[in-house]
Amino acid sequence: MTASPDSQSAVPSLDTARRPFVLVWEMTQACDLACKHCRAEAQPRRHPDELTTAEATALLDDARRFGEGQLVVLSGGDPLARPDAVELVRYGSDRGLRMTVTPSGTGSLTRARIDELRDAGLRRMALSLDGGSGEPHDEFRGEPGSFERTLRAARDAREAGLPLQINTTVCAETVEELPAIRELVTGLDAVLWSVFFLVPVGRGRILDPIPPGAAERVMEWLREVSETAPFGVKTTEAPHYRRVAIERRAGGAERAPDGIGRRTGIVAGDGFAFVSHTGEIYPSGFLPKSAGNVREGGIVEPYRRSDLFRSLRDRDALRGKCGACPYRHVCGGSRSRAYAYTGDPFESDPLCPYVPDGYDGPLPATQQG
Ligand code: SF4
Repeated sequence: MTASPDSQSAVPSLDTARRPFVLVWEMTQACDLACKHCRAEAQPRRHPDELTTAEATALLDDARRFGEGQLVVLSGGDPLARPDAVELVRYGSDRGLRMTVTPSGTGSLTRARIDELRDAGLRRMALSLDGGSGEPHDEFRGEPGSFERTLRAARDAREAGLPLQINTTVCAETVEELPAIRELVTGLDAVLWSVFFLVPVGRGRILDPIPPGAAERVMEWLREVSETAPFGVKTTEAPHYRRVAIERRAGGAERAPDGIGRRTGIVAGDGFAFVSHTGEIYPSGFLPKSAGNVREGGIVEPYRRSDLFRSLRDRDALRGKCGACPYRHVCGGSRSRAYAYTGDPFESDPLCPYVPDGYDGPLPATQQG
């Protein structure tokens, strides 16, 4: 599942007021797994009000208006629970969209299905590993055998010539698994490791996020990994990874972000958009405030002009220490996590331990006492 902002790389050449770097469409909430962290609280059956195939092709046609090569992530649930998944990959690919998919590690992800997706023009497949071996992964995913099926699908994808991305959820239950998962990512010849820092929504509410100090150490470790690993590393819902990277580059001395170029990073609504299974337009899958429905006005206009998306792109609208932070233009904090904890998407990100120099306003509850 990649339903959340890619929080590592600033994209200096992209005008995020005009187009998202990533457009995620949650094709369905249907899935055979019952993962502990599931934002979608996935169900065994498809919702009767899912976008139809015709509505989905209309969405893809509209997404083309964002510009050439728009990246579209087909997410879920399990996107392959929809019988039209391959057809829609082909439809988007034939029209110049860069189509990727995040299937669940279930028995439906056969080699034949992977070959079909490749032949339809799929650009990348993302699979989830939340443990370095069978027991912790299967426990997290709620499905015995999921680990082996995921590894097999990952190898099949590579044999089919598809670039592979591995997604991992970081929370108290998985943090010790990260070094072992790193080895797996290397062995699987993945191009990217996407490390998602838990936002407690959906079924994820039953999991324990790691505290801010531990998150900082994980980010420092990920930064080290990224310097030597044969794959890229990005964080998801943890944009302060960029602050950690800047501080590390500066040898520990803080530098104002303007010193490295005033670039805007991707956060919910700013370089990232999410379309739910029923067509609601959210800034991210973890920030379920709607800017409309694609059935009514497509995706492009709400992304560019809705008050919600426009205000999320205004880093000077942030409150608390994020609003006072010199890194707010390259980071901005997870708007989804701020919303999950406070009900206000403009509040401080409670996972970040950084306190700007001279700031004496309120701190998130995670940093008090
Ligand atoms: S305080 Fe907010 S804007 Fe500053 S680094 Fe932390 S999360 Fe980012």
